[in-house]
Amino acid sequence: MLPADVPAIWLRDNCSCPDCRDPLTDQKLFQITDLPDDLGVANVRPVDGDEEGWEVVWANDGHVSRYTAEWLQRAAEPDPRTEDGKELWGTAARFADGLPETTWAAYLDDDAERLRMLQAVARLGFCLLRDVPLRDGQAQQVALSFGYVRETNYGPQFEVRVEERPNNLAFTNVAITPHTDNPYRDPVPTLQLLHCLVNEAEGGDSGLVDGFAAAAALRAQEPAAFAALTGTSVPFAFRDDTTELSAHRPLIAADPAGRVREVRFNNRSLGTLRLPAEKTEAFYAAYRAFARLLLAPERQLDFRLGPGDCLVFDNTRLLHARTAFARGGARHLQGCYADLDHLFGTIDVLKRKEAQPC
Ligand SMILES: [Zn+2]
Repeated sequence: MLPADVPAIWLRDNCSCPDCRDPLTDQKLFQITDLPDDLGVANVRPVDGDEEGWEVVWANDGHVSRYTAEWLQRAAEPDPRTEDGKELWGTAARFADGLPETTWAAYLDDDAERLRMLQAVARLGFCLLRDVPLRDGQAQQVALSFGYVRETNYGPQFEVRVEERPNNLAFTNVAITPHTDNPYRDPVPTLQLLHCLVNEAEGGDSGLVDGFAAAAALRAQEPAAFAALTGTSVPFAFRDDTTELSAHRPLIAADPAGRVREVRFNNRSLGTLRLPAEKTEAFYAAYRAFARLLLAPERQLDFRLGPGDCLVFDNTRLLHARTAFARGGARHLQGCYADLDHLFGTIDVLKRKEAQPC
């Protein structure tokens, strides 16, 4: 039965009849102010047919709307970008039985396999594609398999290897502690891809940390610290010879309902925070508490990328790290940025295809 607690205004705003939504584009044809002030339902009855649904006749203007049970159910799904749409993993033990991975060939040939990998990024924050061809620009090809490349001042792609005059510590052989990329951008690149071409150096192993799980742990253990971080915009900054970038964003961004939606954590690019003394002290205590959680070794999933491996991960949620490697050791990754909106969109398109096999 149509739930009794569904407000009339909400139902009418979601009418899908051809007068209310353009049948071709499915876009809404009226403005919210066009609806009558005195909306009332005259009659509700189940719709005849295979699919469960209801027909509503409106009291004031006799308009008729139809709703399906399936639509009602879908409307209740959480925002997949927030923690409610995720499987949080507090420790690497979650992957004792293996990583979410497949081969590039299987990913390309099999829609179900592609869907499984993209859903792993959506739910767990990452997937690993193996046997990706060792070709220049291949990370971008992986991005184009589900969305678009986000070009930045580093170019359409970037080379992660030891550079003569690096503009970023990533392009040296030093250890890089867990961080999210480019917090000094707004909007931040929401996805990152790293394609390993060569990894023969001693060291140079990779690590991932679930920032959402750490944020949820902070909220449970120290609610005041969680509130201090979600409630404080901090400046992040990057500069080199030709670029100046900065963004003021919180370390933990929550949606209006308080659900974790984005984490930014990068000690290399945190700028100077200027607040009243008391707030500064509270922020630093919270920042240190969050950092202790994020940097706890047991939270880090360690693995080693080999030639042909391409890691795809959610840069709003997962932190990534690498161990130091021997100077002169051969290690070369190519990376690029992309965005989550198209990854989620491709998941929905693949699900649509799955539901209606041709
Ligand atoms: Zn209508």
